[in-house]
Amino acid sequence: MNVAKDGLIIWNARTGEADKVLTILTDEGLVTAYARGCLRPNGRLTSATTMLSFSNFELASGKNMFTVVNAESQQKFLSIYGDAVSYALATYFCEVIRLLMPSGEETKEYLNIMMNMLHLLNTKAKPQWQIKAVFELTMMTLSGYMPNVSACSSCGSEQSSSVFFDYFTGSWYCSDCSARKGVPADIPFSAIRAVQYVITSEPRRAMAFDLKPPAREAFCYIAERFLLTHIEHDVQTLNYYNALIST
Ligand SMILES: [Zn+2]
Repeated sequence: MNVAKDGLIIWNARTGEADKVLTILTDEGLVTAYARGCLRPNGRLTSATTMLSFSNFELASGKNMFTVVNAESQQKFLSIYGDAVSYALATYFCEVIRLLMPSGEETKEYLNIMMNMLHLLNTKAKPQWQIKAVFELTMMTLSGYMPNVSACSSCGSEQSSSVFFDYFTGSWYCSDCSARKGVPADIPFSAIRAVQYVITSEPRRAMAFDLKPPAREAFCYIAERFLLTHIEHDVQTLNYYNALIST
């Protein structure tokens, strides 16, 4: 029996002469599907089975995976395709989803966040540093690793000019406690405030803030490093993105 599903293509691999295996993010989890002939130019499935295409799929169930019977593109993020840096960031987001998304749970929120981030990247409505860091912090929070940043984890103080951030626990020490423990309080406090703001805001308000350097760099560093510390995995797409923006 065939099933209909809407979903975003977050990974694809060529197989055979003109076929692809797709990973599709749906609101019921990740779906793997075989798309026959979709690499042929002007093929019936070609347009709706490209990376980052949000499509409506008709799928036939098979032994190991679904087969795409029909696909119709619903939404494409065309400006992302045309910009190597945006595309690299979007593929990093896709890899994070694949690494962090739990199986067998409600996954609608992951799809909503991903669609929202791609929309912002596509329209350039927000700067890339902010889209990336908010995505990282939101994904960590959603996956059960919400940073605990409301107060110094040693003395409970809610203020400090600068702090030490512990990437394993996602918490911080104020400058006095950092000095006592012999660790550097090198993170401006406004970066911690921004982390707090992002993880406690409704998704649609999560980017309603600004940060100037050097707090901006510290905030971005916390978001990326906190995620990497917990993924314990080399993230190739992130390495590629970081190499692109540093040239
Ligand atoms: Zn303290």
